[in-house]
Amino acid sequence: MIAKTHIAFASLLMVGCSVGILGRMPHIYEVAIAGAAGLLPDLDHPKSTLGRIVPYISIPLAKLFGHRGITHSLLMVGLVIWFLLTHPGEREWPVLPLVIGYLSHILGDLLTPSGVPLLWPVRKKFSLNLFKANGPMENLIFLACWAGVLYFIWVAMHRPGETWLQPLRESLWQWGQAQVIYSSGRLAEWVVTLVRALA
Ligand SMILES: [Zn+2]
Repeated sequence: MIAKTHIAFASLLMVGCSVGILGRMPHIYEVAIAGAAGLLPDLDHPKSTLGRIVPYISIPLAKLFGHRGITHSLLMVGLVIWFLLTHPGEREWPVLPLVIGYLSHILGDLLTPSGVPLLWPVRKKFSLNLFKANGPMENLIFLACWAGVLYFIWVAMHRPGETWLQPLRESLWQWGQAQVIYSSGRLAEWVVTLVRALA
């Protein structure tokens, strides 16, 4: 899967899991985190979207493990969860968006012929081989994912319990402003917490 489809797929899974597990629509920042986490496994490729932003991480990762190595494994998912649980920040980590986003990437690559080494360090790659990466089918999946997200928003707008969606019923502009202010505040807090946890 290519980056834009990974983001779309992670966003749809985030919305679906939030409604299914937490019984509420996720906030924009949770979808943004899931979308970004959906790109994390490809940090092992210097030419990937994230890899190009932080080459000092992606080049050593690619040299050590190769593309679609440890970062595309269940072991790495376990390590991510372990890190989040053993490094409590001042605020609770957005564990669900991070894990859903990360897992969505592995699941997405699992659908393509190249597959993923789920059980790394065992090198065997698993693949459901449903469609070729970056082909017409992937474009269709990209559109279907966003259609799914819009569907969830439409349903949530008609549910009285979704108080944070209230402004959306009145004005998209108002809702967008409220979300941007709230979400950027939360994101900034986590960046600070992450920097402290890693230091
Ligand atoms: Zn990948």
